Amino acid sequence: MSNIAFIGLGNMGGPMAANLMTAGHSLTVFDLSEAAMQALAEKGARCASSALEAIEGAEVILSMLPAGKHVAGLYLGENGLIAKAAKGTLILDCSTIDAETARQVGAAAEAAGLAMLDAPVSGGVKAAQAGTLAFMCGGSEAGFVRAEKILSGMGKKIFHAGDHGAGQIAKMCNNMLLAVHMIGTAEALQLGMNNGLDAGVLSEIMKNSSGDNWSLQNYNPVPGVMPGTPASNDYQPGFMAQLMLKDLGLAMENSLKTQSAVPMGAMARSLYASFAGKGNSQRDFSAIIEMMQGE
Ligand code: NAD
Repeated sequence: MSNIAFIGLGNMGGPMAANLMTAGHSLTVFDLSEAAMQALAEKGARCASSALEAIEGAEVILSMLPAGKHVAGLYLGENGLIAKAAKGTLILDCSTIDAETARQVGAAAEAAGLAMLDAPVSGGVKAAQAGTLAFMCGGSEAGFVRAEKILSGMGKKIFHAGDHGAGQIAKMCNNMLLAVHMIGTAEALQLGMNNGLDAGVLSEIMKNSSGDNWSLQNYNPVPGVMPGTPASNDYQPGFMAQLMLKDLGLAMENSLKTQSAVPMGAMARSLYASFAGKGNSQRDFSAIIEMMQGE
């Protein structure tokens, strides 16, 4: 069991940190939000007053932050965690960020003699709570072997996608597909409801037909169809629309660089930009169904 410093205790990081403690690791946590730290303290974590204090004595540093700028800010520079971490520390950044920042931070860690992996996750808050996340990792094979022992405390499927940044590329592709099938699911269900069908009945039919997908199975966007979803909880996140918009932005930037055709991803980005811009950025991304209702 390891001493782990966990930075970023939001919708995802909070339950992930709690599961690491359940798995027997000792955690020191830091977040800008006092309330987020308090919730972990009640479960047995030690709270630090800064990220630098959190990594004192840590064998593993794990971060779960909103975007690339937060990750670069945490790890790079004279007072960044890479400059201050003890030799031999394993660093796992589970945030969803641009692959370029992941490569930059990974290279800086390697130059400092530290093993680092980008290890973004898929599965959402429910999977974070249940400890059933999927991890997609980028970094060295040796780092991956060490990482698996830690990540298995929070997830069930752990993949090695390639070198630094490869985990972020896999995550970017996955989330572009998620946005597309959430929008498709929402418009299909709304079309059915506009024709008088019950959303629950239609969902069951499509789950057992060729329209089946993850959004239908786990994250139905219609309130009341599936208990425990953000839709059944006033679209409280879950996964905020602004984070989905960020992920689609990463996919669009990358598609320009790699001259890749992503017509459905581009449409999804445009819809999420419009949706987030109408005061919905902090709501769950499945609330996009309201756009099909003309609201
Ligand atoms: P969140 O906004 O709920 O949590 C982020 C946390 O980071 C907040 O508590 C914030 O206070 C903290 N934070 C920000 N900057 C900090 C800093 N410099 N030092 C310490 N703490 C800092 O976001 P989330 O939903 O937990 O998502 C985190 C990451 O996981 C994002 O990159 C997101 O894209 C990704 N992700 C989210 C989901 C989901 O369903 N929510 C699923 C997969 C991946």
